[in-house]
Amino acid sequence: MSLIIVMGGLVASFIYALTQSDSISFLTRRSRCDSCSNHLKVTDLIPVISYLKNRGRCSHCHSRVSINYLLVEVITIMLFVMPLIVPLGYDNMLLYYLLVSILIPLAVYDFDTLLIPTHMLVLLFVCGLYLTKLEHMDISIDFLTVIILHIFYMLFKDKIGYGDIQLFSILTMITPFDFFIFTFLFTYIIGGISVIILDLFEASRITKVPLVPFVAAGLFTTFYLYADFIDIYYGGF
Ligand SMILES: [Zn+2]
Repeated sequence: MSLIIVMGGLVASFIYALTQSDSISFLTRRSRCDSCSNHLKVTDLIPVISYLKNRGRCSHCHSRVSINYLLVEVITIMLFVMPLIVPLGYDNMLLYYLLVSILIPLAVYDFDTLLIPTHMLVLLFVCGLYLTKLEHMDISIDFLTVIILHIFYMLFKDKIGYGDIQLFSILTMITPFDFFIFTFLFTYIIGGISVIILDLFEASRITKVPLVPFVAAGLFTTFYLYADFIDIYYGGF
């Protein structure tokens, strides 16, 4: 389990750096401070621990390091360890770990900037198709789903970003159809409830909502409860 925790932390900080970068330069960028661009010591690169040790500040210039680093690392580690404690309802470990590794950094980034970098979607698409060996690629159903998603986008253009549509389009191709439907429903159920709750506290009405955190929440809910949903759906009452 300790190996999985270390893996989770390393993957999280690596992929989050990749999410933020617009080119391959992330390979060198991660090892520099965002504000003073001093090279970081090896000990400053240890996930979670280095953040806590330096109290969220750069060890050179003492400027604040974004809490997002810590957030991405902690959530990723938790989701990496969770299948060891709670068995997955949809038992595809590789796909699960791929989606955790990419969607958690993407969710935090989207929450922060309302942007979804295209290179991350490409990465998810390529790795997803490779890992599932095109098993869940159903030309007619997926094509129809993608068309419906685009109609949905045209109807709610000001509410939903095109990146979100692209993300859903990828998910439908790399997961079984009923898995995708559950994910989609849960995204909007969890998202809807959260927005209603947030609206109660915000003075101004929320106009733009980062969707990826809710897609991630919907997706991982589906991963754990998939078998139960299938039972209810096909088992009747
Ligand atoms: Zn610095």
